[in-house]
Amino acid sequence: MARRPDEPLRGWMGVAGGWTLVGRGNETVANTQQSADGGLCETVHVALAERSYDIFIGAGQLATTAERMRALGTVSHAVVIADEAVAGYARQVQAACQSTMRADLLTVPSGEESKSIARVDQLWQDLLRLGADRKTCLVAVGGGVVGDLVGFVAATFTRGLRFCQIPTTLLSQVDSSVGGKTGVNLPQAKNMVGAFWQPSVVVIDTDTLHSLPEREYLSGMAEVIKYGMILDAELFERLERSVEALRRRDPSVLRSVIARCCELKAQVVAADERETTGLRAVLNYGHTFGHALEAVSGYGAMLHGEAVSIGMVCASRLAESLGRIDAELTQRQVRLLEAVGLPTRLPDLPHEELWRAMQHDKKVEHGRLRFVLPARMGHVELVPDIDASQVMAVLQASH
Ligand code: NAD
Repeated sequence: MARRPDEPLRGWMGVAGGWTLVGRGNETVANTQQSADGGLCETVHVALAERSYDIFIGAGQLATTAERMRALGTVSHAVVIADEAVAGYARQVQAACQSTMRADLLTVPSGEESKSIARVDQLWQDLLRLGADRKTCLVAVGGGVVGDLVGFVAATFTRGLRFCQIPTTLLSQVDSSVGGKTGVNLPQAKNMVGAFWQPSVVVIDTDTLHSLPEREYLSGMAEVIKYGMILDAELFERLERSVEALRRRDPSVLRSVIARCCELKAQVVAADERETTGLRAVLNYGHTFGHALEAVSGYGAMLHGEAVSIGMVCASRLAESLGRIDAELTQRQVRLLEAVGLPTRLPDLPHEELWRAMQHDKKVEHGRLRFVLPARMGHVELVPDIDASQVMAVLQASH
């Protein structure tokens, strides 16, 4: 019988600078149900006291959005705000909502440029024009860009509107739609302005992944593999066994894998909602190298997940060179990442520039670099005091 992770802290134990999930083993807390059309839907509960919410995951879920919103109570108006590339899905959501409430649709251009204050300002004006008030629920349809943008608009318009996330990229389904981080970029700095604002409900329709370009799909897969490495050895083994199904985007495998990732993220978020205990930092495995790769190769040249894939291999090699793990653990990651189609080798970029870019990473504390490094499968630790020579040696070995 599935149960809700109402006391998430009980499952976490700080161990030697890291965190490990104890007492839950492979037990899943996701709740699997049959939906009206006979399809299966998993529910993951994010336990955050009065900000708690549910994530629904399955095929054909777009059509259920209206009933999910009605269940929130007092919602009489929906404003669907969508990435223009997925306007077709957004129209389905709008039509489903229109059966019981007023529902408007706005679109924004695809791409990171939409995460700007200018776009926020335009949406604020649109909401004013549409008469949005406290009974309005915003509905974000798209990837992480639209989720972060609409979440921030929801956090700020009339000091806070409810919002529903309908993530349509694999990355946003397993990562950005869960956890309440919202915001926009400044021209000089990504994600610099924002707010913690939790959605009221998240609806994940695995059917939307069918139209996702292959590189975007694989980019999300890097984050999926990351969850196995950092928190769940059983998930990693399941992914190793499911490579073919994952490559062909098998809906039932995706449903259970996405549900498990959401569950893991929900548990981390419930234990460290605002990044104060250090636990949420485990999610950054592979990201110190990855962010540097993205910055030095020029934003957009490399997708985030591609950079994280190479970054995880580099971080694993760093752990190896520090004697924290053996070579086989790195090789297992390389094998799985390559089997699903992700890059694992460092492109030809100047190492000094990569090192300099790492200094800007949020995990620099008093001039020393901290890295999230694996200790064993399913467990990572935050390791301080890493110096340039150790990182340079890893970069040399990673081409
Ligand atoms: P994205 O939103 O730009 O989507 C990627 C591309 O896929 C876009 O071109 C989009 O138009 C297209 N697309 C989306 N869904 C599609 C579909 N179903 N079919 C066809 N095309 C589709 O990027 P992303 O990778 O989803 O998210 C990246 C963003 O998320 C970044 O801005 C990042 O900062 C943010 N992010 C936020 C968090 C968080 O916790 N809030 C976590 C990770 C990343």
